[in-house]
Amino acid sequence: MNCNDCVERLYAFLDLELDEKELAQVRAHVAGCDDCGDQLGLEARFLDRLRDCCTSDVAPTLLRERVILKIRGASPPAS
Ligand SMILES: [Zn+2]
Repeated sequence: MNCNDCVERLYAFLDLELDEKELAQVRAHVAGCDDCGDQLGLEARFLDRLRDCCTSDVAPTLLRERVILKIRGASPPAS
């Protein structure tokens, strides 16, 4: 496996969508490749943050209210 193969499988790897053989190949490559190790770390942190946001009840509510306020502020009723 080279770096391109590894990066292509990175998201599937993080989503645990790879089969055992591919998982082992990605793990083996990342263990020996600093570039892909860094990339994997970045993507993993990004996905963690995304999951935190999606599983939290507070953030989406606040976000929705802020979006609604913004929409109302930006475009007052036409009538
Ligand atoms: Zn690599």
